[in-house]
Amino acid sequence: MPTNCLFCQIIAGQIPATVVHRTERLTAIRDINPAAPTHLLLLPNEHIGSVAEAQPAHAALLGELLLTAAVVAQQQGLGGGYRLVINTGADGGQTVQHLHVHLLGGRAMRWPPG
Ligand code: AMP
Ligand code: ZN
Repeated sequence: MPTNCLFCQIIAGQIPATVVHRTERLTAIRDINPAAPTHLLLLPNEHIGSVAEAQPAHAALLGELLLTAAVVAQQQGLGGGYRLVINTGADGGQTVQHLHVHLLGGRAMRWPPG
């Protein structure tokens, strides 16, 4: 685990966060600066820097992130719809270098995003 990675430290319980779902392979937390009434982050417990750094061996884990996002969205009452976002790299707006899926809901989303 990279000791300077914020999300690795959250997953390890070294930095507090509101955990809403946790399995052996992934953790879902509330975003500290929500951009929607519901704003969660789904994190693989294993450190992967971004989608661009994911390997074929991560295929099942990547699928599990999306499937779990759908389950958590239902649990959060987002049956009317929601948005999943994976910011990747500098131009993609990624600010934390540990792969994460944003789950946004509770308001109507606009398109295109900024
Ligand atoms: P991104 O810009 O796609 O890399 O998303 C990083 C997200 O992490 C942002 O939405 C931040 O608000 C969120 N974030 C940063 N620090 C924390 C923290 N300590 N706990 C929860 N979410 C955080
Ligand atoms: Zn990490």
